Amino acid sequence: MPRALITGVTGQDGAYLSQLLLDKGYEVFGLLRRSSSGDVIDERLRWLGIAGRVQMMDGNLIDLSSLLRILQEVKPDEVYNLGAQSFVKTSWNQPLLTGEVTALGAGNMLEAVRLAAPKARFYQASSSEMYGLIQEPIQSEKTPFYPRSPYAVAKLYAHWMTVNYRESFGLHASSGILFNHESPLRGIEFVTRKVTDGAARIKLGLARELPMGNLDAKRDWGHARDYVKAMWLMLQQDVPDDYVVATGRTVTVRDMCRIAFAHVGLDYEEFVKVDQAFMRPAEVDVLLGDSSKAREKLGWAPEASLEDMIQEMVEADLARHRARMR
Ligand code: NDP
Repeated sequence: MPRALITGVTGQDGAYLSQLLLDKGYEVFGLLRRSSSGDVIDERLRWLGIAGRVQMMDGNLIDLSSLLRILQEVKPDEVYNLGAQSFVKTSWNQPLLTGEVTALGAGNMLEAVRLAAPKARFYQASSSEMYGLIQEPIQSEKTPFYPRSPYAVAKLYAHWMTVNYRESFGLHASSGILFNHESPLRGIEFVTRKVTDGAARIKLGLARELPMGNLDAKRDWGHARDYVKAMWLMLQQDVPDDYVVATGRTVTVRDMCRIAFAHVGLDYEEFVKVDQAFMRPAEVDVLLGDSSKAREKLGWAPEASLEDMIQEMVEADLARHRARMR
């Protein structure tokens, strides 16, 4: 039975990846950082019906000693480094913590793999945010990076460390440059969940309006369930490499609002209000990914459409609020 270690196991992607690997017959271990709210920490795993099937290991990405101990105990075949301070807006409020967790945390994980599990295959969760102020209208593995937030700067360090450890030490280390991916398990602070939750609350009479930031930002949005498959496929290749994972379709936040509100029979223009407090200090205007390398070499392709995904998210938010109202 292959063994996988996932950091960020309590997050959106960690939950879907755990489900995928369990379905494939893996023994799945998760790095769990201690929290005082222990009873809600595995909420996403419970939502997918897999709580209790992931073996939790007590550690933290900023504590190298814990990573070394866990790798020695678990002896994983595959390591997926998904843990991060992952919210772009927060990275301006906590830039150094973002650097410690998102950048140096990945460095710690690579160093731990090099020292304690050098045969393990390693996946790094890189991000389309690294493209930032875009240099080419469609971004591929060859597009130059220009990060526009402390989060993106931290991700770039982690990305190049992954490349460097592959080239310097021969680690089987791959980096997935994933464009935005969403699901009903997306954190509530992220724009897509904010929109689908807002549409659900307004429909149910729990809110009257939805304050939003930049409605003109364009993103290439896919479904997290599809994107974790690409992570796994990368680690099944003989040769490690870097891959863009994207749908190849970009729409505005405004379009996202239109689709979500229309699903509950409402006109978003009546409820969505632009609030300067939600604007980023430096914006990434448009992201659009070219995933032809992943499609050709990994045989990967997204399955969920944007419309289906938004509807799934709105329905999940309606169900959550209805359950609380009972
Ligand atoms: P989430 O924000 O849902 O999850 C982040 C995870 O990181 C959580 O499990 C969190 O644990 C964990 N974490 C945070 N700090 C630490 C720490 N110090 N030590 C150990 N674990 C820590 O992110 P997603 O699941 O959406 O994304 C997964 C990865 O992919 C992230 O690295 C993200 O930056 C990256 N990414 C995501 C994209 C997306 O669109 N979703 C796009 C491109 C990249 P806790 O529950 O304790 O907070």
